[in-house]
Amino acid sequence: MTGGTLADWQERDAAHVMATYARAPLAFTHGQGTALFDVEGRPYLDFLCGLAVTNLGHANPAVTEAVARQAGRLVHTSNLFLTEPMLDLAERLARIIGWDDARSFFSNCGGTANEAAIKLARRWGKRQNPAKVRVVTLEGSFHGRTMATLEATGQPAKHVPFQPLLGYVDTVPFDNAAALRAAVTDRHCAVMLEVVQGEGGVRPVPDDVLHAAREACDDHGALLIVDEVQTGIGRTGQWFAFQATSVQPDVVTVAKALANGLPIGACIAHGDAAAVFGPGDHATTFGGNPVTAAAACAVIDTIESSDLLAAARERSAQLVQRIEEMAGDTPLITGVRGSGLLLGVTLDAPVARAVEHACRERFLVVNAVADDVLRLAPPLTVTADEIDLALSALTEACNHVGGSSTRGKA
Ligand code: PLP
Repeated sequence: MTGGTLADWQERDAAHVMATYARAPLAFTHGQGTALFDVEGRPYLDFLCGLAVTNLGHANPAVTEAVARQAGRLVHTSNLFLTEPMLDLAERLARIIGWDDARSFFSNCGGTANEAAIKLARRWGKRQNPAKVRVVTLEGSFHGRTMATLEATGQPAKHVPFQPLLGYVDTVPFDNAAALRAAVTDRHCAVMLEVVQGEGGVRPVPDDVLHAAREACDDHGALLIVDEVQTGIGRTGQWFAFQATSVQPDVVTVAKALANGLPIGACIAHGDAAAVFGPGDHATTFGGNPVTAAAACAVIDTIESSDLLAAARERSAQLVQRIEEMAGDTPLITGVRGSGLLLGVTLDAPVARAVEHACRERFLVVNAVADDVLRLAPPLTVTADEIDLALSALTEACNHVGGSSTRGKA
């Protein structure tokens, strides 16, 4: 590391890193709890958590200690041999998901957890009927950027540069239970959905759609895959968002927050679905790596010992109440939606990017998840005072962008 200014870093980025991200003009060197510090040493309130990842805040001591301890002991062996942190994690996941017979496949991110789930479902389907390989997904969904998960992602603009795709997905409106029921046939091996669409604009999927998905899967021998990559590990105030519904999936995928920032994903199945894969069916060199698995165990233990699911629900209630009040008297803001600490602030104009920028100028990190929706995803450890500070910055940002005199509400 050579240090340097933001401009130096931007030049190095442009020279040698592929330009897949339109980055903000901001670079961070370290973090502590809800705070991120930029190259000038200025603190920002992090209400994005690296896209819903650092649920325990930055530099969480339990995670740091677990990583350091495991890194000093054993970093990697491959899955040709057993290591204990992976077993510890698989057992913890079975416990928190509430399935005694749960089995996990460990991957390296959300996209590869979903890729595993799609392959598992195809293997499941083909055992019944060679043509049973199709998957139903919802418009607005986001499941990843690999070729299979890109197609499962119900955002056609993302498909265009890479077409032709594999042609195995049927996409239905995210809020139409009847359309979903009608779309699932005996040629479908799975329905795949999020309980709250994160990248799709923090949109909760209606309850009747979740029930229709379960019923359609039962009627046609298909698997219900719930993608909890963004919602899992406490983000919504439950371990998994589906646990606040009465719908039980067959397969759940998780990633992002599982190791508080170290790369990991898991595809968790129960019942007959848990026994689909056999040796050679699927694999990845780093999956279940001892260091990331040790970090994930520390995450789960800390959420339990600090009662962070309850804390997330409490802080969520505070945020929702305050934002609903702001909707009455702050320019641009019309309301709030989402679940737990995955919230979308809705705006009355397509200016979310300008508000995101204005928040950054006020040392608050949030992001525009749609043209008219701002995503808030603070850590589960966020304090009431930090929420007050963040909402003051958001109010100022909306006043700045909306112009309180011309756009302000009566
Ligand atoms: N699934 C959902 C619901 C996501 O939100 C994301 C990422 O935003 C992914 C899958 C892909 O995860 P990753 O970027 O770790 O591959």
